[in-house]
Amino acid sequence: MKSYDSVVIGEGPAGVTAALYLTRSGCSVLLVEKLTTGGQILQTSSLENYPGFPKGIKGYELADLFAAHLDGLGNLTRMVTDVESVEGEAGNFTVKLKNNESVSAKTIIVCTGAKHRKLGVEREEELTGHGVSYCALCDGNFFRGKDVAVVGGGNAALEESLYLSNIVHTIHLIHRRDAFRARQVYQDRLLSDPKIELHLSSTVQSLHGSGDLTGITVKNLKTNQTEEIPCEAIFIYVGFEPVTSFLPANLEKDPAGFIVTDTEMRSSIPGIFAAGDIRSKLCRQVITAAGDGATAAQAAFVFLEQLHA
Ligand SMILES: Cc1cc2nc3c(=O)[nH]c(=O)nc-3n(C[C@H](O)[C@H](O)[C@H](O)COP(=O)(O)OP(=O)(O)OC[C@H]3O[C@@H](n4cnc5c(N)ncnc54)[C@H](O)[C@@H]3O)c2cc1C
Repeated sequence: MKSYDSVVIGEGPAGVTAALYLTRSGCSVLLVEKLTTGGQILQTSSLENYPGFPKGIKGYELADLFAAHLDGLGNLTRMVTDVESVEGEAGNFTVKLKNNESVSAKTIIVCTGAKHRKLGVEREEELTGHGVSYCALCDGNFFRGKDVAVVGGGNAALEESLYLSNIVHTIHLIHRRDAFRARQVYQDRLLSDPKIELHLSSTVQSLHGSGDLTGITVKNLKTNQTEEIPCEAIFIYVGFEPVTSFLPANLEKDPAGFIVTDTEMRSSIPGIFAAGDIRSKLCRQVITAAGDGATAAQAAFVFLEQLHA
């Protein structure tokens, strides 16, 4: 079984940074990613709040730059597969991979971020890929010139509505509250966008269509009235769930399931560190994920030195 100083799980901003810092410290690192470099930034049309890019940068462009930064780093091994389980203890963890390989690691840095929360209405699963989507950037173009719905009131819902506005005919933005919690800059743009129709204090009751989505029923929670909205797609942004099922069950998490760490990114299990969106914290952004990744790498480096002492 191959052995590494550290296995970093997830190649989003947190994992890329952790791997970069650890390998530059001379540690042997395996970076495992189930899809491709970038994580959630691949779903982001444009990042306008990452320092150094005053005109913004497209998510996929930043992901390409991250990947280029990892290329050619000595001591870094990269693998495209899922991590299925992590067992053992500090200095001797066993990481089982979906490709049937297992590796051993002295430390683990968990950077698996979060996945989209489902809306929880009937037929959501069946219509996914047939009008139900969680990624406007990936699927928006299929609905050029059509009417679509977006659900949610946070940054992702508003940012993606504004992105879709350049592509589709009309956007029905459905939000269960009567105020948005997204950044003010998005709210200002949204209110001056004539293509976006607001359905506040409203929830999606049902999805219609056989084969492909043809419309939705929306209920106004103040009046209890329902309304049928014809649309060919619904983009769902109702939050994220942490990805921790492969980790030891006794790892401490907060009530929402995010990993509890101290300020050095140390989890409740010695030798396991967590960085980025997977961590219990206030602000989930690229810059904070990268910052966590750097701190986790430094903390893992110190931990490894103590193991070797
Ligand atoms: C639509 C949208 C717009 C956004 N806009 C902005 C913005 O404008 N500015 C900003 O700063 N932030 C933005 N964000 C948030 C930002 O993208 C995240 O905070 C950031 O990507 C978190 O980085 P991360 O590395 O913690 O996790 P992620 O980016 O979620 O990366 C986690 C990685 O782990 C991989 N993974 C998961 N499980 C496994 C496993 N078992 N085995 C192997 N690999 C695994 C995933 O495939 C993924 O690549 C946006 C997010 C979304 C969805």
